[in-house]
Parts: sequence; structure tokens; C-alpha cells
Amino acid sequence: MSWPYVVGVTGGIGSGKSTVCAEFERLGVVVIDADEVAREVVLPGSQGLAAIVAEFGAGILNPMGSLDRSALRRVVFADPARRESLEKILHPLIRTRIREQVSRVLSPYCLLAIPLLVEKGNYDQVNRILVVDCPVATQISRVMARDNLTLQEAEAIIRSQATREQRLNKADEIIVNVADIESVKSQVERLHADYLAHAANLQTSL
Ligand code: ADP
Repeated sequence: MSWPYVVGVTGGIGSGKSTVCAEFERLGVVVIDADEVAREVVLPGSQGLAAIVAEFGAGILNPMGSLDRSALRRVVFADPARRESLEKILHPLIRTRIREQVSRVLSPYCLLAIPLLVEKGNYDQVNRILVVDCPVATQISRVMARDNLTLQEAEAIIRSQATREQRLNKADEIIVNVADIESVKSQVERLHADYLAHAANLQTSL
């Protein structure tokens, strides 16, 4: 069985990860979204949700029986041991599901979007790291507009994430998203050609 080359995409909130991923998708590249996988593993009826209820009680369910994320956040917020229990339940499920999705990819490479890749340090799932970068002031104005946040809210989220320098230190490639979408498109097209070449090299060296 051939295994695709996996490019991890990361970047701070509002840097333009979704915008970049959409451009790769337009070129036919499969994008796996780690946040989406994290939501799927706790859907009603899932093994993940059952394990969370067993650990934290039915109080973390809302009346319709789905996960009440804010109730769960309140339970784990100030308690590192409980947060660790939650991560012990979720991480193996998320990893397995990501591996399943990667194994179904038919193209030579795929993207795995992991917003908190640098914060969590789970680099073993990716062959390369692509960082989407822009100045903090640009992140702030984009997320205030997109998510209807105040300046203080936007700044607080950015402060809770890795710094630009920490992320750029881990980057194999960088997309600089400071101009228009055309500039993103041309950077994506260039990288797409590079990744196809990397993936081909990897296949021949196996
Ligand atoms: P992320 O996924 O990293 O949080 P998004 O891709 O959602 O970021 O981008 C944040 C917001 O900024 C979105 O509303 C998006 O449409 C907008 N945006 C991103 N890049 C550009 C750009 N180069 N020009 C104009 N708007 C952009």
C-alpha cells in the first residue's frame, strides 16, 4: 500500500490557513482538518463521547445528548489532571481517525491542517510543515472582521497561541499571506509543484 506524503499546515488564528487550504483543494489536493476530526470523534453515538461521559458524567451532555463543549471546558479549565484525562481519551481516537483518512488518500500527497501543531508538538504525523504567516496586526483585523470579536478578544486568543517566531522556527515552507488572494494562489501553485516532486522522490526512495 502506498502512503501519501503528508504536509502539515499551521498558522495563528486569522493567518489564512483555511484560505490556503481552499486553494490547494482547488488543485485537487485532499485536505484533512484535525479540528473537524476532533469534532467527529465525539459525535452522538461515538465511542469517544461514551468514554467522556464515563469519565466526566452526563453533566457534560446537553439535553439533546450531544457534547456540551462549554460544560466540558468548565470542568477541565482549571484542573490539569482532568484535562490530561480528557486528552488521554481524545488523542488516540483522533490519531487513529487521521491515519484512516490519510490511508484513503489516492493522490501523491495530502494536507493535514493542524492549527495548534506547534503548540502541541505532534510532529510525528507529518512529513513537512507549511506555516501560513502574516503580521499580528493583520491577524487581529482579519479575525475581528470574520468572527465579530473585540480587539481585546482577538489579542487574548493570539496571546494564548505560539508566537510567530516559534512557528516560523519549525517551518519547512512559509506562505506569506500579506497581499491579495492572487498572491496566495501563486505561492500555492509553486508549492504544489514542489510537493508533487517531494512525494515522487519519497516513493522512489522507499
Ligand atoms: P485561519 O483559517 O488561519 O483562521 P482564514 O483563512 O479563515 O484564517 O482567514 C481569516 C479571514 O481573513 C477570512 O475571513 C479570510 O477570508 C480573510 N483573508 C485571508 N487571507 C486573505 C487575503 N490575502 N486577502 C483578503 N482576505 C483574506
